[in-house]
Amino acid sequence: MRSTQARQDLGPDGLIGTEAPVDRHLIGGRLVSSHGRDVVDIFNPANGALIGRATLGDEIDTEAAIAAAKAAFPVWSRTTLDERKIWLQRIADALTERLTDLKAITIAEYGAPVTFADYIVDQARDFFVLAQELLKPENFETKRGQSTIQKLPVGVAGLMTPWNGSPWFVCEKAASALAAGCTVVIKPSQLSTLQSKVLMECFEHAGLPPGVINLVNGSGEIVGNTITRSANVRKISFTGSTRVGQMISREAAETMKRVTLELGGKSPTIILDDADMGKAAAFALTVGLMNTGQSCTAGTRILVSEGRLAEAKLALAAGVSKLKLGDPSARDTVIQPMVTPAHYERVQGYIRKGISEGAEVLIGGEGKPAGFEKGNYAKPTVFVGVKNDMTIAREEIFGPVLSVITYRDEEESIAIANDTQYGLQAYVCGEDMERAHRVANRLIAGRVTINEFVDDPAAPFGGFKLSGIGREFGLAGLESYLETRVILDKMGTHRVQSNEE
Ligand code: NDP
Repeated sequence: MRSTQARQDLGPDGLIGTEAPVDRHLIGGRLVSSHGRDVVDIFNPANGALIGRATLGDEIDTEAAIAAAKAAFPVWSRTTLDERKIWLQRIADALTERLTDLKAITIAEYGAPVTFADYIVDQARDFFVLAQELLKPENFETKRGQSTIQKLPVGVAGLMTPWNGSPWFVCEKAASALAAGCTVVIKPSQLSTLQSKVLMECFEHAGLPPGVINLVNGSGEIVGNTITRSANVRKISFTGSTRVGQMISREAAETMKRVTLELGGKSPTIILDDADMGKAAAFALTVGLMNTGQSCTAGTRILVSEGRLAEAKLALAAGVSKLKLGDPSARDTVIQPMVTPAHYERVQGYIRKGISEGAEVLIGGEGKPAGFEKGNYAKPTVFVGVKNDMTIAREEIFGPVLSVITYRDEEESIAIANDTQYGLQAYVCGEDMERAHRVANRLIAGRVTINEFVDDPAAPFGGFKLSGIGREFGLAGLESYLETRVILDKMGTHRVQSNEE
């Protein structure tokens, strides 16, 4: 293992500049030139500045990555748990050396506020440490009566991820898959190419056997589809929109791939009528506007009892007016720009739709905040007078747009919360914890948090209904890359073959 990493591509400010285009993919253990020739420009969402240029991979790059992963699978899948721990730690160490670079580029390319960039990048590294804790023999083999139940890596895994916290998603999936004994082909969002460049350099630097970890920058249409259609890929783990998840699911059925789909959300925050409104409004804004609403778990429907609406309006408006919007690299910034101008326009379309369908803007509204015309900043917007059948209450906006919906009683709050096509996350606030838990127990969501935003990277994460299929994180995440084989010792005649492809 080398002791220092090459950083010749970093500009004087620590960022990757246009003079250092991203034109390579990680294939077979090496950073190789792209066969694909399509070039895209990369802009800083906070000020519109051109900050990079990326060459996107094509089918040939992707097939090469899949072939490398397939060739590496027989050896990697047979590594011992202790060996895998060492390799996972090497990746964690390589990431540790580049945390500062990765945070800087996450801020510049995605517009993440520094506090959020700190969180996702540190956690990205930590996933490779956490995964080592799962490498216990009992997670791979157990006895049940006469039978030995074995959990085997399923094969080459295709990992496809969105732009809203790219290092976090890439590393979460890669850590679980590699721990399971799968080899991987990663396709991050093409909006995260500069972040992917740093990740590729870390993965290369970690020096895993060639082909165990591959990454191809490119579009979903070309790179993503090639992975989904390949008969040599046995598993897809996808995080992104429900629309693309449905397409992948249909396509993956052709080759009977295992799929894990982490998709959209329209999460409710129920403010129970015994809640302390000051605390509840602060909580609702924290979970509703985290990542400036560009978050699958954002609590975008705020459910308030009719009797406490006036109080809620005052508290929410006061809370929003205090949120600092602006330069993502300033430590007190909370509200960041939308990732692209197109996404900004999409969010504006929803704000217009809310107004045209009869909802009332409590605070925020259409257009850019004064002084931020160059960036893709949308105003944090809270609608009141929203009915749960309005477009803004049903569709995932993925921006800083919250809907306040009133309910008559606890029963109706639960009914409205569950009246959605999604089921990823839900939030409850109230003073009476027994009651809050009673309500939480009736919500159809993969995760429910009460009164404060807590995360548990070892607890299963995933959704009901259109929010996806399967669970990630912890043991559930590891198992999503494993397939079961049972050895029936006493049956005598049963011959078992290896799962090598
Ligand atoms: P998309 O679904 O548009 O894209 C996600 C990834 O899939 C990207 O890498 C994209 O490539 C790729 N992709 C696009 N088309 C295909 C295809 N035909 N085959 C294979 N891959 C394809 O989502 P966004 O990137 O816009 O992310 C936002 C969405 O992600 C939101 O709906 C959000 O809810 C969801 N999300 C879900 C989370 C969860 O854990 N449940 C967490 C975070 C986000 P490219 O864009 O580069 O062309």
